[in-house]
Amino acid sequence: MIELRTPGELEAMRAAGAVVADMLAAVRNAAAPGVRLTELDEVARAVLADAGATSPFLGYAPQPTTPPFPGVVCLSVNDVALHGIPTSRELEDGDLLSVDAGATLDGWVGDSATTFPVGTPRPADLALVDTAERALQAGIAAAVVGNRVGDVSAAIAAVGRAGGCGINTDQGGHGVGRTMHEAPHVPNEGRPGRGVPLRAGLVIAIEPWFLAGGDDDYRVDADGWTLRSADGSRAAHVEHTVAVTADGPRILTAPR
Ligand code: MG
Ligand code: MG
Repeated sequence: MIELRTPGELEAMRAAGAVVADMLAAVRNAAAPGVRLTELDEVARAVLADAGATSPFLGYAPQPTTPPFPGVVCLSVNDVALHGIPTSRELEDGDLLSVDAGATLDGWVGDSATTFPVGTPRPADLALVDTAERALQAGIAAAVVGNRVGDVSAAIAAVGRAGGCGINTDQGGHGVGRTMHEAPHVPNEGRPGRGVPLRAGLVIAIEPWFLAGGDDDYRVDADGWTLRSADGSRAAHVEHTVAVTADGPRILTAPR
């Protein structure tokens, strides 16, 4: 079932989204060579605690066989595209770090991700991140009343494919509300004019994740979470929670 939110509910979701933006900013500020991923998770936990929010990531297990996720952020380094676990790994100069964060505040969820280089950036990483961010903006621009989910998907993929990136639709965007993953699924590639119609009050996470090598395949580590490019190439993941409104798309996870 696809639920639509009232203007008052969107205000409540914006409050949750602002906490997520705060988490991403704090983690980005703290990320540097020599810092452990567990330390970044602690930084994000402190932001949640200060806001009186809880984590929709912590303990999350999509299937009974999946071990509960142990962190409040996914920290995905280099060839890890999604769902990286905050381990004791130390960041190194030149790493590419993706941070995916979520918060639940007053019963509403926000979900957002960003990717950035740690220390000295590699030009190829900056180009990959730029492609992902342009794809996110294209997807958001397509999130208007009268379009369909396929228009968002197609807009994302057009940018990613033009950038030579691999795109995989097994994981992608989704409805957001009182839980993190709701209908509809918002794939990162699709056909314009197809899929669920976008109506005012629909809230979706739009989240391109691209593989620099151009191959669409991935592998999941034995930990049940860590999702890596199959070809070993680096990955970027960016995400916002976006409301479709009569006045156009509203980014609920924008910085304050
Ligand atoms: Mg996310
Ligand atoms: Mg998401």
